[in-house]
Amino acid sequence: MDLVLDACDRFVLTPYLYPASFEPTDWRRQLLSLVLITTITAYVTYFLYGTLNYFFIFDQSLMQHPKFLKNQVRLEIQYTCWSIPFVATPTAAVFLLEVRGYSKLYYGVGGAYGWLFILFSTFTFVMFTDCLIYWIHRGLHSKLVYKHVHKQHHKWIVPTPFASYSLHPIDTFLQGVPYHIYPFLFPLNKLLYLTLFLFVNLWAVSIHDGNYCVPDLLKAYINGSAHHTDHHLYYNFNYGQFFTLWDHIGGSFKSPSAFEGEGPGDAVKRLLAVKDN
Ligand SMILES: [Zn+2]
Ligand SMILES: [Zn+2]
Repeated sequence: MDLVLDACDRFVLTPYLYPASFEPTDWRRQLLSLVLITTITAYVTYFLYGTLNYFFIFDQSLMQHPKFLKNQVRLEIQYTCWSIPFVATPTAAVFLLEVRGYSKLYYGVGGAYGWLFILFSTFTFVMFTDCLIYWIHRGLHSKLVYKHVHKQHHKWIVPTPFASYSLHPIDTFLQGVPYHIYPFLFPLNKLLYLTLFLFVNLWAVSIHDGNYCVPDLLKAYINGSAHHTDHHLYYNFNYGQFFTLWDHIGGSFKSPSAFEGEGPGDAVKRLLAVKDN
């Protein structure tokens, strides 16, 4: 994050926003800048990914499903817009710790690590976060927590790409914790971290888009949109993020109904066929 902060400082914040007396190394200035950067980036990526997906990938016929709420897209967007600043602020505090050198993030690919380690980091980052998000998500479904925190996200029974971050702020932050703690525990290249961050945001949108195209060979292993759609429909199955591994281990795997011709898209087709006759 220091790469982004340095660039913003150089081109925008120092020349146009802060007085010269407010030093770039002052932690209060860094925190304020990080809150701004994180908030703006969250809005931009949410609307960019969400809008592109909504118009070019999302199966819009799903909006005719009986469980699709009236004005749902507007409600999903409204809730996300309200929630983003509440998530961005604690997230920026974590980024501040990174910027001030408390993490194991490193720059460059040479030296002790090299390209092989970059590949290894990518693999371990995905596996580590996949495992933790599974258990955090499962914990969010426990009786005590569910109705106060996670229920909001399950309001969207047939979600759209705009539901991807339409969660209670505590929910979004908790499910982001694995991504934040990894670089404090393990060495990770800074550019790779930024790339992975953009990727996980894209993934979160993609599992809400009702596009079930996963190669046959991978259907049992990748937690795609079909799996997450069933999570929204049936609640206690398919808690995973990237893979189905932990759902298999935790006994919560459900073969997606969409793969068996029983998904929400199939229900809409049957409904329209009845209407036509
Ligand atoms: Zn859930
Ligand atoms: Zn969801």
